[in-house]
Amino acid sequence: VSRPTPSYLESLNPEQRRAVEAIDGPVLVLAGAGTGKTRVLTTRIAHILSLGKARPSQILAVTFTNKAAREMKERVAAVIGGQSEGMPWLGTFHAIGTRILRRHAEMVNLSPDFTILDTDDQIRLAKQVLQAENIDEKRWPARQMLGMIDAWKNRGLTPEEVPKSEGDYFANGKGVGLYKLYRDRLKALNAADFGDLLLEPIRLFRANPDILADYQSRFRYMLVDEYQDTNVAQYLWLRLLAQGNRNLCVVGDDDQSIYGWRGAEVDNILRFETDFPGATVVRLERNYRSTSHILAAASHLIAHNEGRLGKELFTDFTDPDEVPVTVASSWDSEEEARAINEEVESLQKKGASLDEMAILVRTTAQMRAFEDRFVTTGTPYRVIGGPRFYERKEIRDALAYFRCVTQPAYDLAFERIINVPARGIGQVSVRLVSEAARAEGIPMIAAATDLLSTDEVKGKARTGLAGLVASLERWRSQLDTMSHTELAEIVLEESGYTDMLKADRSADAPGRLENLKELIRSMEEFDSLPAFLEHVSLVTDAQGEAGGEAVTLMTLHAAKGLEFDVVFLPGWEEGLFPSVRALDENGQAGLEEERRLAYVGLTRARKLAFVWFALNRRIHGMWQSSAPSRFVDELPEGHVMVREEAGYGGIGSYGRSRFDEVETFSSSYHTPGWARAQRRREDVPRHRRHVPTTIDGELVAKTVTEKPSAYAVGDRVF
Ligand code: ATP
Ligand code: MG
Repeated sequence: VSRPTPSYLESLNPEQRRAVEAIDGPVLVLAGAGTGKTRVLTTRIAHILSLGKARPSQILAVTFTNKAAREMKERVAAVIGGQSEGMPWLGTFHAIGTRILRRHAEMVNLSPDFTILDTDDQIRLAKQVLQAENIDEKRWPARQMLGMIDAWKNRGLTPEEVPKSEGDYFANGKGVGLYKLYRDRLKALNAADFGDLLLEPIRLFRANPDILADYQSRFRYMLVDEYQDTNVAQYLWLRLLAQGNRNLCVVGDDDQSIYGWRGAEVDNILRFETDFPGATVVRLERNYRSTSHILAAASHLIAHNEGRLGKELFTDFTDPDEVPVTVASSWDSEEEARAINEEVESLQKKGASLDEMAILVRTTAQMRAFEDRFVTTGTPYRVIGGPRFYERKEIRDALAYFRCVTQPAYDLAFERIINVPARGIGQVSVRLVSEAARAEGIPMIAAATDLLSTDEVKGKARTGLAGLVASLERWRSQLDTMSHTELAEIVLEESGYTDMLKADRSADAPGRLENLKELIRSMEEFDSLPAFLEHVSLVTDAQGEAGGEAVTLMTLHAAKGLEFDVVFLPGWEEGLFPSVRALDENGQAGLEEERRLAYVGLTRARKLAFVWFALNRRIHGMWQSSAPSRFVDELPEGHVMVREEAGYGGIGSYGRSRFDEVETFSSSYHTPGWARAQRRREDVPRHRRHVPTTIDGELVAKTVTEKPSAYAVGDRVF
């Protein structure tokens, strides 16, 4: 009996459908941006469920960011409808790792309510370890120590497994020893860092075959998005779980591997067929996202990379209004922000939604100019990733208070707020408390209570400490009787924290109070303080707060997997993008990773992409004149339109002396050619001219190539 094709399958192309219907056994989907990889994963989940192959809870789906997890949850919910049997295990490696760890915490010497440390706390802890070992932090910074440890964790190595010599370079051979001390301190604090969320489940599975077997049979089907960015630890984790029934489907694009610097191994794609022989391999070549200009620009750019598996992409996209990728320049980063803001407004006037516009930056420092501009002009925006909402000082202080209430043993939180706002507890008293805690092997709050029964702490410090300890006790007793948002407000009031900000005359104090309000608002979604705190620990990408339409501001790294109608790509300048650090540290490989990042950026756009660069930029507080990125030159002729920001000085006035050849072009359209001329002065610039032409009332650019009669380098004319 042939069953009618379910509607969710009908909308797929034959290759996508093959990937969805090959339910049993390993599957690798290797395909370029916008070809429907994520869509295949979502549809696969729906298909598995509708065939009755598994219950939702027997499906494990891994996404790369929490934002992607949320989106996939929505997509899955839309397809499976209001099924009441729960949802699949769906989240990032870290979120799923946490869930598994909490169930078996005791087996890895943690208790189930263990805390997840954020970067700031990690650094604090690393500093403590270095200090205890009398290691000079100036020579051996805590950050470097953490980087070393993280790299080991990403490879799935415990201190016992790291080859001793690998730590030789750090602090005169103490590297591995420090890793061990750091690990022991974490356990003593009942805490895990991000690396542990992967490493500890692996240890758990290896040491307890029965637990592993349990999960192997639980997860009948496993799916992984953005597979090209898995690291070794994640790979080991997947391989352990999938060895049972081998129903593992991974989708990825080697051209979008952008986390090499964090230990991701694109080779995992190549290893897949070896580790899972007989895998079905599907390639998707049709792009459903972008216009042909955007696709051509991105494909041409990425073709400059040598280390590629190589994929073709095409689109059937036919839009008479389709315009080339726009390249524009500004005098400096402030002008760039202003010009982009104006472009945003003008598109909005033409009916585009702010929700469909994104500005993708290379570094978080670039965000400030945009934030300032948007605040000035009242353009609603949201920041995703980057200098995160949850990392702002007032938010971190508030969270520390909440943690002290829910997790009295969390010393790092207690240390953070013990004298914030100032309550007369100086360094000496803090040390007294922490030494007592260390000596007794008890949490600092408990040690403080003990100390108060002696007369060791005196005067103001005594009053302050007694007040704080009593307040914490009281708040804790209100945990079960009061709503968590109400309690949170009370904590901030009674601790004196809000009063401190109200009394603060500095310009950013009102904003900080606003942030605290926002924090409490955001808690409403959760049903308890611990649930909220866990969420905060896991969000690597703070989501937009602004209700209503808003432009998205985020890093290129955070944008992976997402799509927008309009994408702005500012800061395409040598040194910034490709970043000088990537080039210095990793040479050709670094350059290729940067180029993949550019590819990711361009391919986020559905209809319009704007590449922007500034002629001057402040780097580390110093103004520097900058040259357009080599990536600008790598965009293909015919799919790019170069535009001058008229009226901003920009190329128009400044450029003439520096880019003399520009004068041979029409006044408002230039070519990427001068980018190259500026950077490699020995080069003879190719003169391409984009002549504005009107077709059916639409302004388009026609490209004309000219041989220059003369060109200039600096003030010399040849
Ligand atoms: P990326 O590499 O950027 O993560 P992807 O390969 O995961 O991209 P998707 O996000 O799944 O691509 O799909 C890109 C867009 O194309 C989405 O808007 C999706 O809904 C749409 N799309 C995918 N397949 C089809 C199809 N068969 N018919 C119509 N639209 C499709
Ligand atoms: Mg995707």
